[in-house]
Amino acid sequence: MERGIGLAPAFPRRPEGPLARYRPPELEDAAAAFVSHLTSSGDLVLDLFCRGASFLRPAVRQGRRAVGVGVNPIGLLLAGMELQPPAHPHALSAAFTRLGDQPKGGRPLRRHLVDLYRARCPTCGAAGTAKWFAWDREASYPYAKAVRCPRCDEVQEGPTEEEDIAAARRFDPKGLPYHYALGRVVPLEHPARERAAELVDLYTPRNLTALMDVTLRLEGLEAERPVRTALQGILVETFDRGSSLDPYGEARPRPRTLRLPARFLERNVWFLLEEGLEQALARLPDRPTPLPRAPDLPHLLSNPQPAYVLHPSPAQRVDRVLPPESVALILADPPRPDGVFWALCALWAGWLWDDAAVARAMRPFLRRRRFDWEWHRRALQAALTAASTVLRPDGHLVTLFVEPDRSLVTSVCMAAAGAGYSLIGWGADPQAGCHLTWRWAGRQSKSVDVESLARDLTEAAERLARSCLEERAEPTAPVLLHAAVYAGLAEESHLARAAAVVRREPAEPPSPPPLAFTVQAVEAGTARVSLQEDETTGRLWLPSAREETVEPLADRVEARTLDILLSRPEWTTPDLLWEIYASFTGPLTPDLSLVIACVESYGRFEDGVWRLREEDKPDRRAEELRTLREELKTLGQRLGFRVGEGKGRDIRWREGRRDVYLFILSSTAALGRYLLHGPQIPEGAHPCLVFPGGRAELLARKLRRDPRLARAAAEKGWHFIKFRHLRRLIAEGLDRRLFETMLGLDPIVEREGVQIPLVL
Ligand SMILES: [Zn+2]
Repeated sequence: MERGIGLAPAFPRRPEGPLARYRPPELEDAAAAFVSHLTSSGDLVLDLFCRGASFLRPAVRQGRRAVGVGVNPIGLLLAGMELQPPAHPHALSAAFTRLGDQPKGGRPLRRHLVDLYRARCPTCGAAGTAKWFAWDREASYPYAKAVRCPRCDEVQEGPTEEEDIAAARRFDPKGLPYHYALGRVVPLEHPARERAAELVDLYTPRNLTALMDVTLRLEGLEAERPVRTALQGILVETFDRGSSLDPYGEARPRPRTLRLPARFLERNVWFLLEEGLEQALARLPDRPTPLPRAPDLPHLLSNPQPAYVLHPSPAQRVDRVLPPESVALILADPPRPDGVFWALCALWAGWLWDDAAVARAMRPFLRRRRFDWEWHRRALQAALTAASTVLRPDGHLVTLFVEPDRSLVTSVCMAAAGAGYSLIGWGADPQAGCHLTWRWAGRQSKSVDVESLARDLTEAAERLARSCLEERAEPTAPVLLHAAVYAGLAEESHLARAAAVVRREPAEPPSPPPLAFTVQAVEAGTARVSLQEDETTGRLWLPSAREETVEPLADRVEARTLDILLSRPEWTTPDLLWEIYASFTGPLTPDLSLVIACVESYGRFEDGVWRLREEDKPDRRAEELRTLREELKTLGQRLGFRVGEGKGRDIRWREGRRDVYLFILSSTAALGRYLLHGPQIPEGAHPCLVFPGGRAELLARKLRRDPRLARAAAEKGWHFIKFRHLRRLIAEGLDRRLFETMLGLDPIVEREGVQIPLVL
């Protein structure tokens, strides 16, 4: 069977820690698989858009050297925090205490900050501290509060009083902290000043005062690098939660715009810091295994020992950071065109680092109000072009991401193709994400005839969409179909041509920007393919035609899983899954959940490895089927049927010339060949599929995920009977009526939809 590079089968992880609500799912296990299969010891691995540890960590753990570059210092901060946490929890707690002890107006900072939020308990009137105030944006005052009350010994919520409103208004909205906060981000007279002021206005004057006090004192605090980094992480999370962007009384995962909600929360900054500390301590590993960190890039490059370096640089300038042809693998999870997040990062980076270079590098993101996909494609193409010069001739670029917005696939494929890469393998799955592996080919398209390009894109998109669905022969997730079209267009060089449209002289009449142009032409092509859609899952398939002769992908994946388990006595989970996916790449990428169901049906996980189940050894299954077949014949005769074989069935129980029961004996959960492509079922006959109990979960899953199978089963009245149920019926000595009744009394699985999680 042909093997290739497809999906690195692994579930993404939900990000944790500071700014988690802005961060896409992390693909650490997928990255680990690519590092393992595409590089060797000592090789250099580059995380081109570093904003966490998930690519660098698996690289260094496998003995590679790793470089993370990024323009956003907050992304690098998060990576540094995860790669090198404080060695001891008490080091972090002690530094936090020292921060709270820093003097402010003759008192400890902690005391000063807590006093900013003094408020009376709305229940008993005792003096307490507000956890938050809820503000009305229009009226511009706090109308509700939650107070930690020492007398009630709990947090009490209620309306504010005159003195709460007076206290909130004591802070000058344009006072010293305001100008300080603004000045750290942009100098006076700078064109981005107005925009920066809008961002600073996302904070109440009280919270801005408190945050600037903490920021200044953290700068002056003596602390080791990992401890300082952890404190900065806590502070940046406090910048986020301490803004006025979170509405009162509704859960919202993350702000979508930079407008204040009509009713917003002003949270107590000191309490936020304390919560941040608590969470940071909880996240510290029990037994930290620190990864070697090189002091700087020259050290890393001149020494073959595994280590990592974080290097602030825009990806577009990575060719000035690393030597030519030095990198074996580039991992790229491209930043999203997320204007809210980038603007906030520009603001917070200015606050956290008193560094003109940092502020300057982030300023473009402050000023840009709209981040559209065409902008994204161009920026990404520039980055990938720069990266191509540092890639070894035998090196790989892997773009990998999980993103509900399909435009990211479009942008990535166009950018990579436009930068001169050729696609050598890919896979996509709604859960695991989209993984595309590229080699540098230096392919450049020059002159582009826009009209013939549009025609080619439309024609190819239609053909690619149709052939993807024909090859799979089963309902397919829209994300996979979309990826199949764009990956196919990249492979056939259409996207490189499309990306080159921009280099042309202005067309007459002007054509839309390359990405919009491409999307239009592709949509015209895919719209020509008539599709069936499953309303609940959104999966798509071709209504008829060639797929009827092709076995559904799910059945092929099941058969391949058995072959692979037979080919070697023991498999680790990553090796087994990688091997299965190497047989089904690109348009054939199977669902990860289906593959896992196949593995669990045939495999037993013990002592860290998968083995084929004893009962699934081919000899045992063959013997079992032989016995059952004989017993079925005997039973049929005892019940007074004429027993026969043939016509695509293992056993036929007949009465006169009429088929009454038609039995298929199968050791697998393959369904397509019987339910979709099998011979006609005569009127009045009962088709029965007899299968091992160990296949039940898999079989039920197949019926659930493929509405064509479910419909065929219902229309023809298929019975699904487990081996052991049939043996019970044979042993009972039933008459015909009882046999008919008992046949239907065996549900495929006891509880539908129960999933056994795979041990990874
Ligand atoms: Zn009280």
